[in-house]
Amino acid sequence: MELESLRDLIRDVPDFPSKGIIFRDLTTMLKNGEALRVMSKELAALYRDKGITKVVGIESRGFIGGSILAYELGAGFVPARKPGKLPSVTIKKAYAKEYGVDTIELHSDAITSEDVVVIHDDLLATGGTMQACYELVKSMNPKRVYINFIVELTALNGRDTLPQDCEVTSLLKY
Ligand code: IMP
Repeated sequence: MELESLRDLIRDVPDFPSKGIIFRDLTTMLKNGEALRVMSKELAALYRDKGITKVVGIESRGFIGGSILAYELGAGFVPARKPGKLPSVTIKKAYAKEYGVDTIELHSDAITSEDVVVIHDDLLATGGTMQACYELVKSMNPKRVYINFIVELTALNGRDTLPQDCEVTSLLKY
């Protein structure tokens, strides 16, 4: 199976979560074993030679690809979570969503200055979620930070809101 075939397995759901929005549903790709393996190998190939020590996955869909990527690279996995879920001392960042505000949290000891980090989420839309997570990760002074998505919605120009000195990759662009 080729990388581009994954596109055919991603389902478009109109009017979810609200009217006028076309939701790209990755569950129809993830439930296909061959597709999941292709996705995993392609993600890992992007970061194999980068000395990654930690993968940060953004709750909740970013936990899927993020865990796989960490496993494939032999790196650790760090969950970036919604507020109030992490049990120990955290750092947090609020960010604007289409309607209202959301907050993302990391354990304050999750990353050190020795780490080379890739932050992973399933999908890039406006970029607000990733930008907030990036700022949290950066505040812990890792050696280097990379950003990765499975799907990038190019029409929303989310990439332009992300730090220009940071290498951003995505497997599939829409
Ligand atoms: P952003 O902050 O606008 O870039 O939105 C990205 C976040 O919203 C990610 O955590 C995604 O999981 C989620 N998201 C937004 N639109 C979609 C979609 O069409 N399919 C799947 N997830 C989406």
